[in-house]
Amino acid sequence: MKTFQKELRRRRTFGIISHPDAGKTTLTEKLLLFGGAIQEAGAVKSNKIKKGATSDFMEIERQRGISVATSVLAFEYKDIKINILDTPGHKDFAEDTFRTLTAVDSVIVVIDVAKGVEEQTEKLVEVCRMRNIPMIVFINKLDREGKDAFELLDEIEQKLNLTVTPLSYPIGMGYDFKGIYNIWEKNVNLFTGDPRKDIEDTIEISDLSSSELDDLIGAESADELRDELELAQGVYPEFENKAYLEGRLQPVFFGSALNNFGVRELLDCFIDIAPPPRPKESDIRVVEPAEDKFTGFVFKIHANMDPKHRDRLAFVKIVSGKFERNKNYLHVRHGKNLKFSSPNAFFAEKKEIVDTSYAGDIVGLHDTGNFKIGDTLTEGETLNYRGIPSFSPEHFRYINNADPMKSKQLEKGVDQLMDEGVAQLFVLEFNGRKVIGTVGALQFEVIQYRLEHEYGAKCTYENLNVFKATWVEAEDEKSEEFKDFKRVKSKFLAQDKQGQLVFLADSQFSLQMTQQKYPSIKFHFTSEF
Ligand code: GDP
Repeated sequence: MKTFQKELRRRRTFGIISHPDAGKTTLTEKLLLFGGAIQEAGAVKSNKIKKGATSDFMEIERQRGISVATSVLAFEYKDIKINILDTPGHKDFAEDTFRTLTAVDSVIVVIDVAKGVEEQTEKLVEVCRMRNIPMIVFINKLDREGKDAFELLDEIEQKLNLTVTPLSYPIGMGYDFKGIYNIWEKNVNLFTGDPRKDIEDTIEISDLSSSELDDLIGAESADELRDELELAQGVYPEFENKAYLEGRLQPVFFGSALNNFGVRELLDCFIDIAPPPRPKESDIRVVEPAEDKFTGFVFKIHANMDPKHRDRLAFVKIVSGKFERNKNYLHVRHGKNLKFSSPNAFFAEKKEIVDTSYAGDIVGLHDTGNFKIGDTLTEGETLNYRGIPSFSPEHFRYINNADPMKSKQLEKGVDQLMDEGVAQLFVLEFNGRKVIGTVGALQFEVIQYRLEHEYGAKCTYENLNVFKATWVEAEDEKSEEFKDFKRVKSKFLAQDKQGQLVFLADSQFSLQMTQQKYPSIKFHFTSEF
């Protein structure tokens, strides 16, 4: 029991979120270097997809191979087991990121010092804020000219709706970048611009007014730093761990990931303050990580990595207890027991079969089609984890079978891709035609390509004018109002994979008109309400 408690306490499972190009991959790599998990820079492959290029989805294919390895990066640092969950930055894959965020216990938000808060950062942070996920902000690329520190902190508060407090503070910037004062550790770290240095030299400055500081960075910079720190102290609240853990306060660090500068400070503070596995809500109760019975849920599925084996890897976040190899677990949705002879645990660049994993960890389970995103596994208790909704897609096309001899393959392929969460399938009520809805346009190419290469099926698409899909909830399904709605809008009604009723509005205007006309019906933008 003692080991169990200890194992829980030393786990930190988190995600790094950012707008593409802010430096997520670079930061991940430097963190791994500190853990000794990789030996050299360049070992972590970017999961990035360049915007708009037609070769994008070939690139995705190539990267899918890499991304199983980079989906979970685990390493040990100062006796802490750290699990980094990869979150794609490209907006077309935002849903994937949203789902991954259901499996993290905290996040680090990376912001580019010159660009400030960007679009994807806003969206992702909003999701974290709504779930009270503890967040640390890392302002990156201090070796470049960027915005003034106060201006940035302001911008973060305004645009991201956060309450920040700096735990480090830059001394100069860009060409003039001298280093960082670490408020958390009360020391100065001078910038040499030498990325080869694994561990930076820090100089203890317990008293800011000491002349040592002047000697180090020059009297002018020292005075400026003193003034700014004093100002910051007046403006920003003092750091309080509880407030951070409850999502009410976000500490901020400055640095340059590329130069491996300010990263050690971030990591050391992170392992001190970031939460071990957190409790999670299910449909019947809140589950504590320290409960001795195992529970977990699938947040990601990776399919057909090896074309010779039709097999998929389901990523399960362990919420409570420990997961053991060859033990029977209940697949709650199917109501049947499954056992896994080769569960994978993830390390920096490889996966390995393990006998035991603990709450906070991710295990990869080989699956032949049993799982879909959101499925719960337990030791027998019938509970379901919530909070992996489908989001209202924004791109829609009819999908047609282009090879009548392969209709079975097509059906199976579409089915499995939907379980993986690549897109959503809707079946129109009035004619039974299938419509694929996606968050990003890229997914259509991905689906077509994967259907052909993994299932031997061919599909074509046909345009369909839909503005948004909304899930329909009627106050009273027998009411005249609802009947009228179903009759008048019959050509715009469909069912999702769960059989839930969906209204496909062809414009913003028609959605508004429909809402006004049928006040007793609710139109939801996510599948869970
Ligand atoms: P991601 O899209 O968020 O994963 O960003 P990457 O880590 O791939 O970084 C995007 C670009 O910014 C790359 O060219 C990096 O070399 C560069 N970069 C990352 N960190 C820094 C930094 O601290 N300073 C500078 N000057 N460039 C950086």
